[in-house]
Amino acid sequence: MEVEILGSGQEVGKSAIVVSDDKTKLLLDYGVKIQPEPPTYPLRPKKLDAVILSHAHLDHSGGLPILYKKWKYPCFMTDATFDLATLLIMDSLRVAKKQGFGVPFTKNDIKIMTKNTKLVHYNEHFKIGKFSCQLYDAGHIPGSAGILLKNGKKIFYTGDIQTEDTRLLRGCRLPEKVDVLITESTYGNRQRAERENDEKLFLQSINDVLARDEIALIPVFAVGRAQEILLILENYANKIALDGMAKTASDLISYYDAYLRDAKKLRSILKRVHWIRTQEEREKALRLYPIIVTSAGMLGGGPAIHYLRGIQKRAESKVIFTGFLVEDSPGRNLIKTNIFQTVEEKFHVQCQLEQFELSAHADRSGLLEIIDRVKPEQVICVHGEETEKFAKGIEEGLGISAYAPKNGEIVKI
Ligand SMILES: [Zn+2]
Repeated sequence: MEVEILGSGQEVGKSAIVVSDDKTKLLLDYGVKIQPEPPTYPLRPKKLDAVILSHAHLDHSGGLPILYKKWKYPCFMTDATFDLATLLIMDSLRVAKKQGFGVPFTKNDIKIMTKNTKLVHYNEHFKIGKFSCQLYDAGHIPGSAGILLKNGKKIFYTGDIQTEDTRLLRGCRLPEKVDVLITESTYGNRQRAERENDEKLFLQSINDVLARDEIALIPVFAVGRAQEILLILENYANKIALDGMAKTASDLISYYDAYLRDAKKLRSILKRVHWIRTQEEREKALRLYPIIVTSAGMLGGGPAIHYLRGIQKRAESKVIFTGFLVEDSPGRNLIKTNIFQTVEEKFHVQCQLEQFELSAHADRSGLLEIIDRVKPEQVICVHGEETEKFAKGIEEGLGISAYAPKNGEIVKI
């Protein structure tokens, strides 16, 4: 069998991996890399038999409609992934058009994709050719899944994965022994501080802003992170303005009782926060609410930029990032240089800039724990900035064969 890397080889973004035997080709994810602009897509696959989507984030799902221009093979995913991916993909089409970037698919391609979608539950067995397939809760965002493929050998693809419980979700489930592990490596070379401690520091930082009567702007990913932050800030709900795609996503997610640790609590928080819908309300929000939770998480678009413009000269206000920032994203560049820059504008930001890692990804020890639990003979590292270093660490530290392929490479398994 073979694993071919079409995207996410030695990079974070545009995940796309083909696993095949001599008859059947399965594609795992087909994402887009949104940052840096303009968006880029993975290499195009040759004819496939099916697609399995690990989760809704655009770096895993955003290129899928391209495949449905020509073909009509089934696309397997959980129901939550289906709702959230459709929401995000439709939004990406709107945003790209607004920004003047060409998009290699149309609304009709999205429609054909949704018609060919097959919904599956966690742990349910389904067959594609000789591959027997199963999804495992990945603990990353609602509906996210690790993908187990059995065809003589057992192959497990983590997608994006979190081993620890978060406020929103329980930590991941894993299969027992596998032969080949295809693992994400976002934090492959980084150990994070204890989550509890980071949450405490985050709350201290918010209290500090409140005490000074200033504003905390918290840019968030609409799916997953927005809800996690709202749960952490439960006691501050009436001080929070919620804006951007984070609103629709939060509303949808709050009804996924089966996926969440406490959907009821999330629904109650959403009743207490202030939903910002119009430009007028945005101006008002800056005067009335000290905490603004809004997409986009890396400041690549959305109302977050509007609020940033509004507070840029307030040296006592804060922009607080709460997760991973992709290299060359406006958020990462802002932290490095105090300058906010996109293709459309550039300005200096005087606010305090902070970053907490309340991540939905496993850190280095979490990823090593996964290896320890599934005991693979062969590890393929993808979706990281220094995947080669991570792979070398696995070989030297654990004595397991590990490799970090580039895009376009084929690995025999
Ligand atoms: Zn993700």
